Amino acid sequence: MINKKQKIIIANWKMNPVDLVEAENLIKTVRRGIKKSDDRKVIICPPSIYLSKIKTNSHFDLGIQNIFWEDKGAYTGEVSVLMAKNLDVKYAIVGHSERRLYMKETNEMINAKIVSTLKNNLKVVLCIGESLAEKNKDRASEIIERQIREALKNIKKSQISNLIIAYEPIWAIGTGQTPSQDEVMSMSLFLKKIITNLYDRKTAENLDILYGGSVNSQNALDFVDSTGMNGLLVGGASLNASEFVRIVNLFG
Ligand code: PEP
Repeated sequence: MINKKQKIIIANWKMNPVDLVEAENLIKTVRRGIKKSDDRKVIICPPSIYLSKIKTNSHFDLGIQNIFWEDKGAYTGEVSVLMAKNLDVKYAIVGHSERRLYMKETNEMINAKIVSTLKNNLKVVLCIGESLAEKNKDRASEIIERQIREALKNIKKSQISNLIIAYEPIWAIGTGQTPSQDEVMSMSLFLKKIITNLYDRKTAENLDILYGGSVNSQNALDFVDSTGMNGLLVGGASLNASEFVRIVNLFG
């Protein structure tokens, strides 16, 4: 399958690095290393406390790792879409498996976040994926279909152009284990089928679907193009500036 769309490479720094100077050095090296290219888009998602310190340029956009569903008010510790937009953030990751696990985020909460993010004109990166137990019980398709249907409740077809889906099998995140190319391709087809059923084929065709889970510069190309995936969500490897630059520069 030949996929000629612009590739999307997202760096998810998670709760790293602990030092602002380190974060600034990381971004400096990334900024210097990545070539300017129209063939791919780079999105950097640092911890939200660093967002105001990181200036975007034409080489990359900024994303936030999590967002709250209300615009403002008595929600201690939360950050709203309006606040993120003030810091030049263009994307919000929603539904990362670590938030589903540790913060007990449900599909209903994820839906509320998506509704608010899209209403306020920020783009959403919706993370979905099955656990190892679910995979072993052959329940991956059922779980993923439910994650998508519930996350996209009341989301209109016209809003899907501002959505990216990242398929991240939980068992592949930070483990060094990855699905085969065939498995990734089946999943990209399955995701397109779900979106076709919910909306239509054109909407599914235009949707950007990314792979995430133990990506590095050695395996990055395996997951894109021939699998129908249109880019990558990179966790651990995005904290190593030269490794992340290598990954990005593979795509143009
Ligand atoms: C992630 O956390 O989204 C991720 C893909 O992590 P890693 O690349 O470290 O597996």
